[in-house]
Amino acid sequence: MVVNTFVVVGASLAGLRAVEAARKVGFEGKIILIGAERHLPYDRPPLSKEFLEPHEEGPQIEAPYFRTEEMLRDELGVELVLGSPATSLDTERRIIRVGERDIGYDALVIATGSIPRLLPGTETLGGVYSLRTLDDALSVRDALTAGARTVIIGAGFIGSEVASGAKKRGVDVTVVEAQPTPLVRAIGTAMGDAIASLHEKNGTTLRCGVGVDRIEGEGSVERVVLADGSVIDADLVVVGIGVDPAVQWLEGTPIRVDNGIVCDENLWTGVPGVYAAGDVVNWMNPTMDQRQRMENWTAAAEQGAAAARNALDPVHSKPYGTVPYFWSDWYGSRIQFVGSADADEFAIVEGEPGTSDRWVALYRRGERLIGALSLNGQTVIMKYRVKISKGISWKDALEFAEERRAKAAVAR
Ligand code: NAP
Repeated sequence: MVVNTFVVVGASLAGLRAVEAARKVGFEGKIILIGAERHLPYDRPPLSKEFLEPHEEGPQIEAPYFRTEEMLRDELGVELVLGSPATSLDTERRIIRVGERDIGYDALVIATGSIPRLLPGTETLGGVYSLRTLDDALSVRDALTAGARTVIIGAGFIGSEVASGAKKRGVDVTVVEAQPTPLVRAIGTAMGDAIASLHEKNGTTLRCGVGVDRIEGEGSVERVVLADGSVIDADLVVVGIGVDPAVQWLEGTPIRVDNGIVCDENLWTGVPGVYAAGDVVNWMNPTMDQRQRMENWTAAAEQGAAAARNALDPVHSKPYGTVPYFWSDWYGSRIQFVGSADADEFAIVEGEPGTSDRWVALYRRGERLIGALSLNGQTVIMKYRVKISKGISWKDALEFAEERRAKAAVAR
């Protein structure tokens, strides 16, 4: 089928990269980018990091928009349909419903991302926020600026990064995490323990292994009651307890959903003309030889571009594979992870968690190196990413680490 109109639903990173890639490969037809938020596409990582930090000299940092409206409309030739979500999809007639409007497509990339999970019963209580959107981040920043006593539910990415930003403002912060350590799903329990000390060292109270019973207040939050009966006074609660893929609007379509939109290794849904990218896609990752749904910046950007190329030229479509990568900034330290945390064994190969400012841990599955985690290990982590992509053995990875140690000892 000749593609005259290319539509992308979801105007965040994956969606933006999709429209950029379409023009890059020379697509000259009509491009429509549909976004639920009123904002132009913006970058999310800064929202839970530097966006929340105090900036004593000069104004607070600006909203991290990727491109101006003129750039999108005039240079990229994108029609922007922002401010209301797509509500249904007819894959037979190739039509998307947005508000009162029907938008037709020849090729479609779905990049609707994910939706934060909420704590039941808090929907109408003031001072309780998720942190996903720019508007959420503005609300949280205003509350922190006012010095709110802060309780954070969940010690994952959002919770730990917000705790770090809040602490820099000198406000009291308690983080409550149901799991035994932070970031369990992302890096595993053993290594979660190693990074938990960052919270303690920086004066944040971390309560692990306990859930939230309820959040109380008259109109606005006043206290958080934990499952063990303890009570924490609060003016601000930030809830970072994970996300769900934004797929509700696809109900009734032949698109298969199972922990996200199920796609093959080409990011194809199996429905003619329909591809998916970003947090919403559960695809067969040929590099890791497993089905994955990722929630990280790098994959979203790359998948957006790959899905667009494949949607526009399905005959020559190519698989997209990657060794997952994410980073997170806590109290001025950078945590980076590559690969998978589903491991049989861990080994600390540089530094000592808890005492060193810089350390590296490797993860083994079977006979292979499967993952690597570092604290302030910017100079080495990508080397391990390449090695994982080449399928390096555990033995060779340990030898490589030993060589690095020997070289570092000589240099000292
Ligand atoms: P997350 O990283 O999955 O962490 C949520 C944590 O909260 C998990 O440990 C979870 O445990 C725990 N939890 C769940 N229910 C709880 C409860 N009732 N009480 C206390 N703890 C509870 O999710 P997130 O921090 O909300 O982040 C949301 C999304 O933003 C993710 O997609 C993330 O990748 C993205 N993000 C990424 C970055 C980055 O890459 N640097 C930064 C910010 C945000 P269970 O695992 O048992 O549910």
